[in-house]
Amino acid sequence: MKTISVLGSTGSIGTQTLEVVRNNQDIKVAALAAGSNAEKLAEQIREFSPRIACIYDETKVAELRLLTGDLDVQIVSGMDGLIQAAAIPEAEIVVTAVVGMIGIRPTIAAIEAGKDIALANKETLVTAGHLIMPLAERKNVRLLPVDSEHAAIFQCLNGERGNAIHKILLTASGGPFRGWTREQMAEVKPEDALKHPNWAMGKKITIDSSTMVNKGLEVMEAHWLFGTEMNQIQVIVQPQSIIHSMVEFEDGAVMAQLGTPDMKLPIQYALYYPERRYLPGERLDFAKLSQITFEAPDLENFRGLALAYRAGEEGGSLPTVFNAANELAVSRFLNGEIAYLTIPDMIEGAMNAHKKIADPTVEEILQTEKETYEYIESRW
Ligand code: NDP
Ligand code: MG
Repeated sequence: MKTISVLGSTGSIGTQTLEVVRNNQDIKVAALAAGSNAEKLAEQIREFSPRIACIYDETKVAELRLLTGDLDVQIVSGMDGLIQAAAIPEAEIVVTAVVGMIGIRPTIAAIEAGKDIALANKETLVTAGHLIMPLAERKNVRLLPVDSEHAAIFQCLNGERGNAIHKILLTASGGPFRGWTREQMAEVKPEDALKHPNWAMGKKITIDSSTMVNKGLEVMEAHWLFGTEMNQIQVIVQPQSIIHSMVEFEDGAVMAQLGTPDMKLPIQYALYYPERRYLPGERLDFAKLSQITFEAPDLENFRGLALAYRAGEEGGSLPTVFNAANELAVSRFLNGEIAYLTIPDMIEGAMNAHKKIADPTVEEILQTEKETYEYIESRW
């Protein structure tokens, strides 16, 4: 029997995690945490009987208490509640599936409490990787990647103890606007960008996939997870999303992990690592597939990816600026307040205005986030 805590349980990764739990008989859920969706969280509490449930939004506590009045669960809220759910003594693995930098403090709390991390929340590693990686090593906890590309790289490294990575080939679908010019993208509306060709995901990551900011965040995530330099990580567009990523070794051998696009595979692999369990679902049929194609990413029209390389190479607090500016820009775009191409403009403007801190503490990261928001509010 394994016991887990799921942060962001009502989202795309969170609900698929609970599907994996439902399909297996040997995982117990000790804690669940969501942002504000009391109704869905209440249903999950009823089904999975966690000891603790956190609703971040304090104005939703009364509603959640009402919906779960007949159940034996402790309801907590806010950042303290989220940290309590992350560090709950009975959990061995914490699935970090909240969206955004809100994940930094609970992830650190979970590592400090000695939990293995099934890591989906890439924004945390992008902004605080320099703190999280050494902490995880000190606490002897495993960071098990859930992001499909990183899960693929992780699988390619199985049995390669000590063999250096020469290059990571991080695959990208290219999103719904692959091949488009900036003129074409100028008119993109939220509903256009929310249509991903291969994956059904939360809104923020779907927009990030369309701008290729997601791939930029993933390059930085890979840099931290696998200890490779930014210039050893090459993005390659593979529109069918069949190859989930590849590793090239010193002798030129390339290992790849392939499969149908289904996030339950990396989630289940992280929960049971190193064991592979049966997972129902579609299998690859190579005869039907007939071809897998590749192209180079378009760094001129997808400036978010080029800016991510710059942020990752300069490091320090610059990835925080990149990420915070993107989080605010995406939420404004989704609210219909800014044009699609203003997203990279905001990121670049905030990065250019920032005075870099070389090795920021958690407080300095959160302060940088706040200052980035203030800068954007004052300019746009
Ligand atoms: P969703 O938007 O679908 O879900 C986000 C989850 O976080 C929801 O449960 C939401 O709760 C919760 N949440 C939001 N704010 C808070 C908060 N302040 N406190 C506690 N919980 C909060 O996102 P995804 O599942 O798509 O993505 C989650 C993370 O995983 C992201 O970092 C993303 O980049 C990464 N990821 C996602 C993939 C995917 O396929 N979806 C693939 C690879 C990585 P509520 O419902 O109440 O708002
Ligand atoms: Mg991914």
